[in-house]
Amino acid sequence: MLKFILITVLFLPIAVESKDRWTFENSKAWPATYKYCGGNLQSPIDLNFQISHVDPRLKQLYFKELYSREPLELSNNGYSAQLELKNHYVLKNVAPESEDYKVEQIHFHWGHSEDYVNGSEHLLEGLPYPLEMHIVTYSSWFSNFSEAVKNTRALAVIGVFFEFGKEDNSLLEPIVKTLKHIQHKGQTVFIDGNFDLKALIDEKRLYRYYRYDGSLTNPPCYESVIWNVLPEPLQLSVKQLNAFQTLRAEKSQLIKNTYRSIQPLGSRKLFRSFYSQDIQEDDIQRKILVSKGHDQYSFVKMKFSFVLISLLLFTI
Ligand SMILES: [Zn+2]
Repeated sequence: MLKFILITVLFLPIAVESKDRWTFENSKAWPATYKYCGGNLQSPIDLNFQISHVDPRLKQLYFKELYSREPLELSNNGYSAQLELKNHYVLKNVAPESEDYKVEQIHFHWGHSEDYVNGSEHLLEGLPYPLEMHIVTYSSWFSNFSEAVKNTRALAVIGVFFEFGKEDNSLLEPIVKTLKHIQHKGQTVFIDGNFDLKALIDEKRLYRYYRYDGSLTNPPCYESVIWNVLPEPLQLSVKQLNAFQTLRAEKSQLIKNTYRSIQPLGSRKLFRSFYSQDIQEDDIQRKILVSKGHDQYSFVKMKFSFVLISLLLFTI
């Protein structure tokens, strides 16, 4: 008995501590503690044009700004830099006739490899980008994020890749220049009012995205996410990426390689809202389809007319 008590006392704190301290390095061990991490709808995945299917119901996403006066809080949570955006924006058009999705926060994933190759969670045609931003939203059917987070399709996340450009990305700079104030886990700071999500993401680009059903990319890995990943990257400078690479987690260890390896697509389908990998070709194709009346609204109108005619014939 004494032996049992001793073993329990000795190992319990370790068990509790390890559950609270998952790391990106030990992601293979996540399913043992967090069962959803071993599920069939996990993220991230490799986004591949050839295996994806066009879904014409996927419309242009856009944000409605709520003109909140609440200041924006940037924090180091030990895994990433996270900007709280509660009550600032809602995401529209997630699905036909769908409810709004409330923007909760944005955060980043990056790497530390010498050649700056790795960093993003999703891959595009098998290749990573140095940084990926996630805009996390939840269905307005739920009163808050915690209530929504476990439910199927209750979250919608937009994934945005960043590639290197020669200049600093001035729209990202309000976050980058504030990172020096959150070097250590648990630190928070309010950023100035110049951050503009719609301008940063260049909102008009949100008609081209990959779509699939997936999960949170870290524990507890709930399979509740409608993923929307943009194939065209934004840009940041090497200097700006370096600012993310200085952030520290537990015991002042660097927050390193904050990305999960890709997960099998399995029996899921990968959809896309665009016709061609090339933007110009895609735009031409869209114009042709609209001129032929093959857009979604014409299709809905056709279906409606068909039902009306059938009803008329039936009553005659
Ligand atoms: Zn993320």
